[in-house]
Order: sequence, then structure tokens, then C-alpha cells
Amino acid sequence: MVHEGAEDPMAALGLPALSRVAICGGTHGNELSGVYLLRELQKSRQEEAPDSVALVTVMSNPRAVQQCRRYTETDLNRCFTDATLSSPISDRTPYEIVRAQELNALLGPKGSADAVDLVCDLHNTTANMGLCFISYSDCDWICLHICRHLQMPSTPVRYLHYNIPQSEAYSLESVGKHGFAMEIGPQPHGVIRADIMGIMAEGVRLMLDWVCRFNSGEQFKGDKMEVYTLVRNVDYPRDPATHSIIAAIHPQLQDRDFCLLHHGDPLFLHFSGKTECYPWAEPLYPFFVNEGAYYEKGIALSLAHKNTVGIPPICVQRD
Ligand SMILES: [Zn+2]
Repeated sequence: MVHEGAEDPMAALGLPALSRVAICGGTHGNELSGVYLLRELQKSRQEEAPDSVALVTVMSNPRAVQQCRRYTETDLNRCFTDATLSSPISDRTPYEIVRAQELNALLGPKGSADAVDLVCDLHNTTANMGLCFISYSDCDWICLHICRHLQMPSTPVRYLHYNIPQSEAYSLESVGKHGFAMEIGPQPHGVIRADIMGIMAEGVRLMLDWVCRFNSGEQFKGDKMEVYTLVRNVDYPRDPATHSIIAAIHPQLQDRDFCLLHHGDPLFLHFSGKTECYPWAEPLYPFFVNEGAYYEKGIALSLAHKNTVGIPPICVQRD
């Protein structure tokens, strides 16, 4: 017998339907799995659009895509903070800031009731990261349930959490009510690999499958999930005078994203031949190891800790 007011721990949490879903590619113009997958989706969208979902497909940075560059003037995927989205536009404003405000008008406004229900932004990395969801929340049950649904035999699927307040969240997916970047690697920028594009296509298919089943009333069981939370970024060792890098990622660390690092493990191999080791006491998980686009940002790798998050059973909210 359930007493009045007592919560049934097995009862599913009701969440609003995901009526409007945006899939974005080309936010970085040289990350080609997303660019070409988006074009394929735009070709086939009419036939495949599921009834319960209004699907929007967006080529986020068409100028950068045309030039096959990450961006033309400034990194579009750092332009979605509240401050940048509300900054005044002049003739000198970088193209990507203008474009971010256009995308915010199309898919947002960020933080408003008019925003699309879910944004899935497609990215590639040169790092050996498999498939990662990157999100600003470790308690967005929609994103966590979708990630859990994406388990596939061909690649590891992980959930990465950047603990940044929504107003300072800088990437495109933060414009939606729910959102995540689907980051897949390794793939060199400006290159398309069939295996990596295939993983992305399967990831998008499973994401849409989950959304349709959720909207149609299916109940999803609660579970526990591993979540990686960013702790810090690590720069390359540099010459103090010239600021030029003086070391590369150590061969023992290269391609070993998400393999736990302990104190004393090799991090960098200096061009002089010296090995520089992991200096911290707390073991952490490396990711974005030797990401090609991050040399300019001063990031050789990022470090995360892993924790387990309990996710509740959920179903669509009935009016
Ligand atoms: Zn990217």
C-alpha cells in the first residue's frame, strides 16, 4: 500500500516531449563527418523525419565549411555565452559572432521557452576518444538517457561533463533546452574516414530512435552511468622566452584517451629527449590528447575525474 504523499521510487519522472530537435553540423568547418552527415540528412529528411518530431538540420558555419577551415575569424563554438550573444553588432564584428546570434534566433533564444527542445551538434576530434557526449550538465536526464541508449559494439561511448554555468556555456548545444555535442574521433580535420562517419551516423540514428520512443510514451528504466567531469586543461611545455612548444605528447600517452593517469606516468617527451611525467597525486583520466585544433588554445590534453551518477526512470509527461 502506498500512503498518500509517499513517493513511489519506481515511478518514472515525467518530462516534456521533445517536439523540436535540431541536428547541427559544420560548427567547425573542417570536421567533415558532421558536414557530410548533415548533407545526407538534408537530402533524406523528408522521408525519414519521424512523425512525432519536427527535425531542423543546420549547417552552422557555412563560410568555414566552404573553406574547409575550423572558422574564418573566431571560433564559432566559443560564441554562445550570454555576453557574446547579446553583444552589439558593427561592421567590424567577426562573422562567427554574427552567425552565433543568427543561430540563437533560429534555435533559441538560449534560456527561453521558445528554444528548441534538443540540440545535437556534430563534431570530430583528432584524439582517440571514440564517441563522447559533451554536455554542461550531469543531471540532464534526457541527455544521459540518450547517451545510455547509444551503446554500440564498434566504439566506446562516454559522457563528458563541463561544469560551467549556463550563462557562460560557450558552445552551440547550450542554446537548446537540452543539448550535447556528439564528438567522435580519431579523424584528422579536413579528412573523412568511413569508419568514423559510420559511427556518427549510427549515433544520430539511435538518438532519433530514442527521441521517438520517448515521445510515443515508452518508459525508460533508471540506471547508473559513468560521467567524466573536466578538472583541468594542460598546456604543452613551452620556451618561456618564445612561448614555442618544446615537447610533444609522450608516445606512451598518445591515443590513450580515457586511460587513467597516475603520478609519475609519462605525459610529454621533450624535443631534448627528456620525459616529463604526470605531477599530480590524484589519478585522472586524459582526453582530447593531442587534439589538432587545440594547439592554438594552449591545450595539450584535458583531465577528468570519473564518477557514477544515478539516473531516474523517465517517461514523457502527459497533460
Ligand atoms: Zn568541433
